[in-house]
Amino acid sequence: MGEYCADCGAFHTEGRTCQSIYHDFLALEFEDSAYGQVHFLTVACYMIQHNGYSGEALVWVESKLGTYLMYNLSGPEIRKLAAKDTSSSIRNWEVNRQREAPPLPKVSWSMTIADVKQQMHDAESYCELIIEWGRRTWREMGPLLPEKDQQKRQSD
Ligand SMILES: [Zn+2]
Repeated sequence: MGEYCADCGAFHTEGRTCQSIYHDFLALEFEDSAYGQVHFLTVACYMIQHNGYSGEALVWVESKLGTYLMYNLSGPEIRKLAAKDTSSSIRNWEVNRQREAPPLPKVSWSMTIADVKQQMHDAESYCELIIEWGRRTWREMGPLLPEKDQQKRQSD
């Protein structure tokens, strides 16, 4: 017996949900910096796969993820990058997707938060899995982006 997540398609048993796993992960990351170093990726992937971001935020996070993966940044570096970006520009756009926003296309993700949960066994494996999740989410998120940004991405 189990249930599929309506947003990301993950399969859950034992009454677990993506949200409950996400909250467990965030708690781990706040308690232990060995887990916390991938915090940016955890939040980004979860939000991307659960329609949490507005169009502008998707474009922003797509470029941040791209930078992260291209330069293979470590936890502290990506945190600095994300913090700089947040503080320097009080954004004039909404981060969260509005309820009346048009529905995004469905992506069949090759990896979800349930896969991370199932395979992790310590901080090291956790970070590796979250990074892999980030890589795949970034690669597969194209259809969620506004059309002009999809074209830009293909020509890059
Ligand atoms: Zn889900």
